[in-house]
Amino acid sequence: MTRLLLIGPPGAGKGTQAVRLSQACNVPAISTGDIFRSNVQNGTELGLKAAEFMNAGKYVPDSLTNDLVRSRLNEPDVDNGFLLDGYPRTAAQVAELDDILAGTGHELDVVVLLVADSDEIVKRLSKRALEQGRSDDTEDVIRHRLDVYAEQTAPLIEIYSDRGLVVEVDGLGSVDDVTARITGALDARGIALLAS
Ligand code: ADP
Repeated sequence: MTRLLLIGPPGAGKGTQAVRLSQACNVPAISTGDIFRSNVQNGTELGLKAAEFMNAGKYVPDSLTNDLVRSRLNEPDVDNGFLLDGYPRTAAQVAELDDILAGTGHELDVVVLLVADSDEIVKRLSKRALEQGRSDDTEDVIRHRLDVYAEQTAPLIEIYSDRGLVVEVDGLGSVDDVTARITGALDARGIALLAS
């Protein structure tokens, strides 16, 4: 019954850890980035609209993002918890999520902040550009995404810290090490985990 957010700069490893944590916590992982990318691939109307923002390293407008998350969080499989990866990313999205959760009578349990320094991030994203060919992983776009993160998303850390929800975890090191660090921190907060 865990309701968890994963926050961190692009390239911190949220997507990789989200898959593992959703298994460890036995809750569905909901990644707005993945949802947008699959809409782009399938050529949906939402995908066509989202692509122009994503390719420029900009956030997709809240008017598109909020409705998507609201309908996803009203599906029955999230009754027992969820892991949100990449949402909220703006103060307005925090307010929207508060409103969605108030409507379902639920509260967040923890916000995992995955940190990595910008040199490491640029290195990882440049490597991912070669391996996966993501259209938002070019150098200029990466730099812009980091700026947008610093300006619009980093302030969310204080909002959630004030609520006593933030657990900060170092995203450097092997994928297994980072997972162990996060699950260790969740365990220390009394969050139920499946034995791995
Ligand atoms: P990363 O964390 O590496 O930037 P994501 O897969 O989380 O990758 O997001 C990729 C892109 O999808 C973002 O740059 C943005 O354009 C869009 N996106 C994802 N989540 C949101 C959101 N909550 N609000 C607005 N745009 C979003």
